[in-house]
Amino acid sequence: MFFDSHAHLTSESVLPHLEEILKRAQNVQHILNICTDQVTLSEGMHLVKKHPHIFNAGATTPHDVETEGEIAFPMFEKAAFEKKLVAIGETGLDYYNAESPFSLQKKFLIKYLHLANETKLPVIFHCREAFKDLFSITDLEYPRNAPAILHCFTGSMQEAEEVLKRGWYLSLSGIVTFKKSENLREVAKMVPLTQLLIETDTPYLAPLKHRGRQNEPAFIAETAQCIADVKKVSLEEVAKATFENGEKLFKGLGHDVDKKKLFKSI
Ligand SMILES: [Zn+2]
Repeated sequence: MFFDSHAHLTSESVLPHLEEILKRAQNVQHILNICTDQVTLSEGMHLVKKHPHIFNAGATTPHDVETEGEIAFPMFEKAAFEKKLVAIGETGLDYYNAESPFSLQKKFLIKYLHLANETKLPVIFHCREAFKDLFSITDLEYPRNAPAILHCFTGSMQEAEEVLKRGWYLSLSGIVTFKKSENLREVAKMVPLTQLLIETDTPYLAPLKHRGRQNEPAFIAETAQCIADVKKVSLEEVAKATFENGEKLFKGLGHDVDKKKLFKSI
């Protein structure tokens, strides 16, 4: 059984087909759904009522902070304090696809770091070509060893080491299966199973065999197999470790009492 630690299940291309998509994902026990605005947050709230194995995280992405940051922050803040979210994110810095000014990305990263710390929720980082600033800001604004996840990691070995040094989890997506991702597979080899998560980032980044198609949680098996191959461990070991890490991070969080029972039964 897998824990898909990052999926956008309410994105426009996924939601109309969600029932079939979830049916195909019999191998996925838990999915962390990422809400990024008012619409996806309210859809996410409906989703968790219907599907007890889905959890919500929420924040404005670094791309959208210029247009939506101020409006959306109080909404995510409220949801976090009401325990409707199990994590804050994805927040962070993207200097590669900089759709919002760097200064605003930093401002909202800090706001979300403070929110995560106040609510004691893990924070999920999106970071592209901005690790230097991400590390210096978090070192100042977020307690060392407080829970954090570097989602869809695509950085260098040295950046991976910096992530791990801070006690954060490093999450690998289908990108690790791509032919050109030799460096990322070296990172996968190095990351201890105790700090590893896996994700699909549905609907983006389908792994190699499904490339060109829309990604979905069922495809996480291919990413896990690739990691197992480079680490020379069994698929079950990767599944179990990443599942337990997800469980440890999100257990007992959120609003649904039944979910706590569900975790216990595994
Ligand atoms: Zn995402």
